Amino acid sequence: MARYTGALCRLCRREGMKLYLKGERCFSEKCPFDRRPFAPGQHGREKKKLTQYGLQLRAKQTMKRIYGVLEKQFRIYYERAAKQAGDTRENLVAQVERRLDNVVYRLGFAINRRTARQLVSHGHILVNGKKVDIPSYQVRPGDVISIKESSRGIQPIKQALELNKGRAVAPWLEVDYDQFTGKYVRNPKPEEVTDLPVNVQAIVEFYSR
Ligand code: SF4
Repeated sequence: MARYTGALCRLCRREGMKLYLKGERCFSEKCPFDRRPFAPGQHGREKKKLTQYGLQLRAKQTMKRIYGVLEKQFRIYYERAAKQAGDTRENLVAQVERRLDNVVYRLGFAINRRTARQLVSHGHILVNGKKVDIPSYQVRPGDVISIKESSRGIQPIKQALELNKGRAVAPWLEVDYDQFTGKYVRNPKPEEVTDLPVNVQAIVEFYSR
């Protein structure tokens, strides 16, 4: 299972925006993007005007980086989205939002998607009462996601719950922190995913060239 293992903050600097990949640190004064808001490398400070293609490419890279998905998997998501009936944009957002690691993060059971991915792959998460250890597992509307009873006291989960208990979850989810469970109620509309600062239509255009 391939995944990006490099420095996360470098990705924010490359995309020229905060992608909030680390949790609380992103909101603190320790965020490196606040101090160096330009691309890494020797020519990082140079301002370049992007072509149409460049804009589409950056939109795709940004979305992949936010969800922690590599190119091959992301292309599969696009191809599935394009084959499905309806709006490809909406289908693509649903594909990434339905990833189990993303749902665990959005429910507030992990402080960021990278930790959520670890919790899933280490077997701490159940879907409809059964262990699922595949971070890319596609959750369906109505599925109940819970934390395994013996895992409820582990540090990353305790830390996330201390931080997130009482915070509202995304409108397409429901959570019960006392029971350590949550529900994926429905697929979101792209407009509802307010922390996704990309033009999804540009990504559709990138792949359909
Ligand atoms: Fe990005 Fe968060 Fe790192 Fe800041 S702390 S650069 S927002 S990952």
